[in-house]
Amino acid sequence: MLLLTTVATLLALAPLQTAYDGPPLPKLAPEITRAEIEQHVRTLASDALLGRATGSPESVTAAHYLAEELKGCGVAPAGDEGGYLQRVPFSRPGLVGTPSLELATSDGSKPALVYDTDWRFSKLAFAKRTLGVAVARSAEEIPKEGLEEKALFLDESDRAKQREWLKSSGHVNGQGLGLLVVPAGSGMLPRRPPTLALEGALLESFRAGKAGSLTLEVRYEDQEQPAYNVVGILRGEGPGASKAIVLSAHYDHLGGAPAKPGDTQDHINNGADDDASGCSVVLELAGALAREPHRAHTIVFLLATGEEIGLVGTDYQIAHPAVPLEDTLANLNFEMLGRPDPLVGGAGKMWLTGWDETNLGAALEAAGIPIAVDPRPSENFYQRSDNIAYVHKGVVGQTFSTYNMHRDYHTVKDEADAIDFEHLTSCAQTALRAVDLVASGKVTPVFTPKSAPPDTKKPQR
Ligand SMILES: [Zn+2]
Repeated sequence: MLLLTTVATLLALAPLQTAYDGPPLPKLAPEITRAEIEQHVRTLASDALLGRATGSPESVTAAHYLAEELKGCGVAPAGDEGGYLQRVPFSRPGLVGTPSLELATSDGSKPALVYDTDWRFSKLAFAKRTLGVAVARSAEEIPKEGLEEKALFLDESDRAKQREWLKSSGHVNGQGLGLLVVPAGSGMLPRRPPTLALEGALLESFRAGKAGSLTLEVRYEDQEQPAYNVVGILRGEGPGASKAIVLSAHYDHLGGAPAKPGDTQDHINNGADDDASGCSVVLELAGALAREPHRAHTIVFLLATGEEIGLVGTDYQIAHPAVPLEDTLANLNFEMLGRPDPLVGGAGKMWLTGWDETNLGAALEAAGIPIAVDPRPSENFYQRSDNIAYVHKGVVGQTFSTYNMHRDYHTVKDEADAIDFEHLTSCAQTALRAVDLVASGKVTPVFTPKSAPPDTKKPQR
């Protein structure tokens, strides 16, 4: 039960809080324990944090949780103004005022048009438009052409069926449509195409074919949103102390929305595997490494925001690093370690991206640390997480993962209950051995001669 109290207290204080002053969080044991790993994942992936979208108040709450845990481990702050949080400039278009909808009906009737009661919409790419209305009660009724200036109303509530109708009529993702109009029903509105969802009498007037044309007006402006990296540091000792390694994971995810009354559907992308699992490993490594008195190299802990929207947080840390890049030996990134991967031997077995790019994989193998080669090179995972931002700057960057291509990836089903905590705990313990090899200076990660840092091509997510 402690867990719930903690999240609720954190949320009650967000987003304007500048420091955590809730009840004391449980002190982390230096050892890597399943109980703590589970606490981290269940806290970050809780419905209360609404999928931790970058810039959301809930993601700020998550940042404070992470900062408090680093502090509890005895890791020093390396964010802004002596704290753990590093503000990352971030803005996104936000609604200005109340959007308006006007409707011309064939019988002059005037159904109620209250925004967010009778209608709502997903992101629109226009400010104001007037569109004629076309109605389809089956896929066959959808014209293949001539809908660019039309609002196409599909009299079907099921999102999957809507997608099928559009596909079979040659309008995949709404191509060739001015606007898609659907019954509100349940479930998140699609991001593509721009969609208008209707309820009540307004919906009935469309169903009855009375809607002649509509005018929709929406105003957006770029709005600054609070976004933070969480950054901590453990200084090394002796000659190697000027050199650092960065241990990282991203804590942001895709976000979500609480269900509306009467709506039983799940709208929260909890991101337990992606990447609350990696964050839990980095926190546990912090606890264990903070206990080691004599480290050679300095260790930076980076819990990054903005990975899902283009490595925004990591790029910002690289531009404003806790330790200069020229003194950064490597970035070891932890991503999706919550479920065993049968391709590398299942429970407790991790794989490393970019094996052939550096000497690290071979060095781990030589040291008897059971890390496998990324078994799916064609998936391009080396380019698909925060590590690649370091590589683009000429710093070794590789990701440890056990992602097994599960179908819950980037869906509302990536829940904490689907995490194998024994597996994850064992991965964290192996990760400690790997990190120790580098942090102690026994191994210095370098690029293999053939692999100059890859070009600046944008990574696919
Ligand atoms: Zn991820």
